[in-house]
Amino acid sequence: MGTISLLIPVLAGCWVYNDAKTRGHTTGSAMLWAAGTVALLIVFLPLYLIIGRKQQVRTKPELRDEKTIDVEATVVEETVICPMCASKVQEDFKICPYCGYTLKPKCETCGQELKREWKTCPNCNTSAPQK
Ligand SMILES: [Zn+2]
Ligand SMILES: [Zn+2]
Repeated sequence: MGTISLLIPVLAGCWVYNDAKTRGHTTGSAMLWAAGTVALLIVFLPLYLIIGRKQQVRTKPELRDEKTIDVEATVVEETVICPMCASKVQEDFKICPYCGYTLKPKCETCGQELKREWKTCPNCNTSAPQK
């Protein structure tokens, strides 16, 4: 009986310590929770489950924020500057929505999509429309 009643709070304390650490608690805060659990299991374990584990809820939106930033960064990479009005436009836009500049002209003869830098259509050698 004596061994078990000692072992359970210690095991619970170890679990609380590890759990608190994985949830982003500082070592000091995790050790406080663990020490409290070992000393007063009945009080500190439920308290930790209610208050201590709330930390996880706080870190989740932060992770989501990081992901949104990543997505925004990729969007920024895919933008090009309109040579006409210097607005940021999406790379796959064919026409600048701000000034109507043709960002990706098409060959008038065969309809091949041309890059702005191209002077002639690589398909049929028609000279590309220059604006
Ligand atoms: Zn433009
Ligand atoms: Zn062509």
